[in-house]
Formats: sequence, C-alpha cells, structure tokens
Amino acid sequence: MTESLGAELHHWIRELYPIGRSLTGNGVRETLRRLGEIVPLTIREVPSGTQVLDWTVPPEWNLKEAWIETSGGERIVDASRSTLHVVGYSRPVRARLTLAELRPHLFSLPEHPDWIPYRTSYYADGWGFCLTDRQLRALPEDRYEVCIDASLAPGSLTYGECELPGESADEILLSTHVCHPALCNDNLSGLVIAAFLGRRLAARRRRHTYRILFVPGTIGSITWLAQNETRLDRIAHGLVLTCLGDAGSLSYKRSRRGDAIVDRAAAHVLAARGPHRILDFSPWGYDERQYCSPGFDLPVGCLMRTPHGQFPQYHTSADNLELVRPEALADSLHACEAILDLLDRNRAFVNLSPKGEPQLGRRGLYPAVGGGAQGTEQLAFLWVLNLSDGRHTLLDIAERAKLPFDLIDRAAGALAAHGLLRAAPR
Ligand code: ZN
Repeated sequence: MTESLGAELHHWIRELYPIGRSLTGNGVRETLRRLGEIVPLTIREVPSGTQVLDWTVPPEWNLKEAWIETSGGERIVDASRSTLHVVGYSRPVRARLTLAELRPHLFSLPEHPDWIPYRTSYYADGWGFCLTDRQLRALPEDRYEVCIDASLAPGSLTYGECELPGESADEILLSTHVCHPALCNDNLSGLVIAAFLGRRLAARRRRHTYRILFVPGTIGSITWLAQNETRLDRIAHGLVLTCLGDAGSLSYKRSRRGDAIVDRAAAHVLAARGPHRILDFSPWGYDERQYCSPGFDLPVGCLMRTPHGQFPQYHTSADNLELVRPEALADSLHACEAILDLLDRNRAFVNLSPKGEPQLGRRGLYPAVGGGAQGTEQLAFLWVLNLSDGRHTLLDIAERAKLPFDLIDRAAGALAAHGLLRAAPR
C-alpha cells in the first residue's frame, strides 16, 4: 500500500520527535543521520571557538540525563520522558536543594497549566528544568536531589548540507533550523519537508542548482554565511522553511528587498492556491534575519503556515504530533514545490515575428471558435508575443496580464514550438 505523502511526512516527524536536539551535540548528528536516509547530506563539523562573523562557535553540549528526585527517591521530573524538561545548554549540576533553592531554576506556563515550556540557556551560564505549572504548584517542601549530567566542552557545531547541481550555477537556497527538541511544527515540519523536497528535486531536471541547509538557528546560518561569503553572489533565490504543519493557512514573509523574484513568485503561487498571508520583512523570526542582514541582503523569504508566536502551542509541549496535520504538511510541500517550479521555469523569450501580430489561426494556435473560456488562452498568446522582447520574463508577463503563470508558460511553449519565439540568453 502506498502511504499518502502527508502520512509519510507525519511518520518522519514521529521518528525524529524523541531525539534530544540542541544547538550542537549528538542529537543534531543523529537527526541529520536520519534525514540522510531521505536525502543525501554532507555533514559539516565546525570546531568550537571558530570565529564566525561577529559570533564564536559555542562549546558542544551533550546531555546524558537530567532529573529531580524527592527525598523519598521518587523521580518527579525526568528528561528521558520529554527532552523539553531540561533547559537547553544547562551546565552540569548535582545537588540537594530545598524547594526555595530549587524554585528559581524551575520554569512553567501559568496560562497553560498542563503544558511544558521550551527554554534554553544559550550563551549564558545557567541551568534549569521545565515542567507543567500544575506539577510545579503541587511540589511540597522537601530536600530535592537534582541531577543534570551534561557536558559543555570544546567540540563542534554540526550542520547538514545537500547540493543538487543544476544546468546553471545560479542557486536556490533552502534553509531550515535543526536545533529545536521535541517540537513538531517548529521545526520538525521544516526539516522533514526540506528533506522531502530534496529527494523530489534530486529526481527531476533542474535549471538551478539547489542547496538545502539544515542548520542550528542563528549560529548555524551565521556559520554557513561566514564560510561561504565569497560565493554568495550565486544565490538567485532562497526560502527559509519553518512551522509548516499546523492547520492555519500558508504565510509568506518577504525578503528584506521586498520585491525580489522569490517574493513575487511566492505571492503569485499562494494567490492561486487560496487563502494565505503575505507579510513584510522584519528583522525578527528565523534565519532570514541572517540571510537578509544588510551586509548580505540576499533574496531570501520565509515560507510558513501560522507564523511563530502566533499559535498558542508555540515553544511548548503542545507543539506536538497532534498539532501537525498530514494534509497541512503535504499542502506546504506542494506550495513550496510550486514556488520552486515557477522559479526554475521563469525565463524571457524574444518574439521572432514582432512586426504586427503573427497570424495565429494559420498555425492552429487560435481555437476555431472564439469566446468563452478559450478567451484567456488567446489572451495569453497575445501577452506573451507582445512582451517577449528579451527583457520581460514569464513572471513579469503573468503579473501584468493577471493570468496564471502556468498558462503563460504553456502559451510560450506553444509559440516557441511554432517558431514564433526563442529563449532569450540568460
Ligand atoms: Zn522556535
């Protein structure tokens, strides 16, 4: 039996859910190893202490165990039950503490008493546990034994990179963050969709070269940018993929430029697919912040469903396997694929019969009976012929004609097949 695409994507999220991920460490390596079963990945290790732009690659963090026990020996919080229970990058601790001493290290969400928050202590020397507010409020006075058996030591930052060479060296960059623990929408959805896109792109003809990055948030994209600074001019278009599995409608956040081709392609595709949101760039969110920092200003937007922070389950244990829906995952993948497909097919042509309109009827390009739905097809021919001066791309024409890109592309194909157009040099 063939599993539907959505079910397959959801299955992979379930597989990756229990792995303890952070900015660095073996959980990231294990996640990338599993994603490598979907798409071939080159794993890169960048040593702690490496200077990357204004940042330094941090020490590597690996967690063996983390728990809190009562004086009676009952283990009341245990990271082996949920990786969210321990604050990411906590320093090692072994102590007996009163409730008052322990309390500053405990984090909960009073507004959602049954959810565990997601907390990190990156770039700060702290430690802590996350638990439900209901459990926190019920803790009695006691001497608690606290254990965080973790190593925070020189190692490396790990990221995965997949390069799919195309006919052109011009690149489309896809980037997704790999650092979040047991959170499904943010961002196992992005990881799994990026991997599946890679697998499907690998199997088809590609005009652009595709580069897919699986990087820890912020420090990972900064590291990649630092290592690839001399070759960034190859990036023609890019998308950050995040929060792609919830039931909300699709959202596209424009690049800093606001009018990059990817911004227009995404708006065109999403408009044709139904209800959606187009958001302006802001220097907040995910790794588009780094790709769109002013020193790079790359044409990179962000595709998501409900934006981060706008769904209540965001950064909590309720961002779970139920929040992400198979049909939403499949829809996100198809939308992303449609944007990439448009970018790959977008090109300019030159009209070889530009003086007066060429006679289409003689060539069988005008339907015998005019009017009705056939009108848009004729209109597509006329728009393509009129604007194909070597400068206007098919997307330019589709936008100006207010016609679907697919229709414009098909019209151009038919006109080229009849010798009325040739592709303009790129
Ligand atoms: Zn997040």
